[in-house]
Amino acid sequence: MPRVLLLLPIASYRNQDFLDAAQRLGVEVVSAADHCHQLAPQRGLSPILSLHFDQPEAAAAQLLASLGRGVDAVLAVDDAGVELAAVLREKLGLPGNASEAVRPTRDKLAFRQMLQQNDLNCPAFHCIASEAEARALAAQLRYPVVVKARRLSASRGVIRADDAEGFLHQVRRVSRIQFIADRDASELGLVVESFIPGSEHALEGLLENGQLRVLALFDKPDPLDGPYFEETIYVTPSRLPADRQQTIADSVQRACAAAGLTSGPIHAEMRLNDADVWLLEIAARSIGGLCGRMLRWRLGMTLEELILRHALGLPITQPENSDASGVMMIPVPARGIYQSVAGLEAAREVPHIEDIRITAAPGQRIAPAPEGASYLGFIFSRAATPAAAEAALRLAHAELVFDIQPDLALTKSPSQ
Ligand code: ADP
Repeated sequence: MPRVLLLLPIASYRNQDFLDAAQRLGVEVVSAADHCHQLAPQRGLSPILSLHFDQPEAAAAQLLASLGRGVDAVLAVDDAGVELAAVLREKLGLPGNASEAVRPTRDKLAFRQMLQQNDLNCPAFHCIASEAEARALAAQLRYPVVVKARRLSASRGVIRADDAEGFLHQVRRVSRIQFIADRDASELGLVVESFIPGSEHALEGLLENGQLRVLALFDKPDPLDGPYFEETIYVTPSRLPADRQQTIADSVQRACAAAGLTSGPIHAEMRLNDADVWLLEIAARSIGGLCGRMLRWRLGMTLEELILRHALGLPITQPENSDASGVMMIPVPARGIYQSVAGLEAAREVPHIEDIRITAAPGQRIAPAPEGASYLGFIFSRAATPAAAEAALRLAHAELVFDIQPDLALTKSPSQ
């Protein structure tokens, strides 16, 4: 029986989907979490290890000391574990991306530097390490610009600024967000880059011996022009002409080769305009949240099963399927405490809606972008055309009414 080490971030939406896929394939799972031993007992997993995913060398040593029998593959379920997984594969002599290739994909500054060094399309960018540096830069920038935290995800800490005054304000705000969410990154500073106009798309792919296999190209039909960039709808297949789709795939392939990424899932985000394709990120993992569930029909299996199959060298056959599918990451309308949702039944009855998952838990503190990093849930659709899949998502969403109460801890003044 093949044995796989899965790195399961405690906060990931996807742990169960990976565990289910492993069970379907008859694969033995050794799991390691990035938090105390919470996941294993109720799932009958053993052994479970508790590791700091963001300190890969130390975590790898700890893990190898207690791993016992070897494993056939090491997989990170989500972003948090990709670097540790690469370090572990190197130490265990397993195939996969080198840690040196993976590391820059986790830092927005390093990713921009990699593009620039390889003469790939890249907006003008700067790193600012202090408010004084931001003040010095403010007068020189060509606006609009985008201010970004270096290592956060899901558009957390990403804000557009249209002039020097707004820029300084947003630098302070993003610094605060970064400090709260990723204290270790505070001294790394922030990234500032030119705003890239255009439509936005995402590509889900699998690298096999350095060759990119496109699993899906998504359109993001809602404009993402800022000042905040909360993701909402992804629809596939893309409605772009075939030659534009090919240009995107070529540009992702070139960037993967330049970065040294050769194996396993990749998720790339890009903007497209007359001037070309502009990569926003390439992550050495698959699409986040529960979004991958929209690909089940297209792949003929779950995305997690496909990733496990690839890691274990098992065959992957993709069926011919022309259906369109879509997902909506249900946006958080306001900061507060999530209580409940009404209208779920009506939303589920909207034609072409396949599933709706509310992932926010009653009592959970929530916030929209750029402070928040989670969604209220996910709506999935499947239809004959991308337009119908998109329309179904919007209709279903319109049926949902969320009760979000003010967060009194935030509205009280310090003296209260
Ligand atoms: P994250 O990893 O948090 O998603 P990204 O760098 O991908 O961070 O940015 C999040 C979103 O912000 C993007 O999907 C895009 O909509 C917007 N964005 C980021 N950088 C730019 C840019 N230079 N120009 C225009 N939009 C941008």
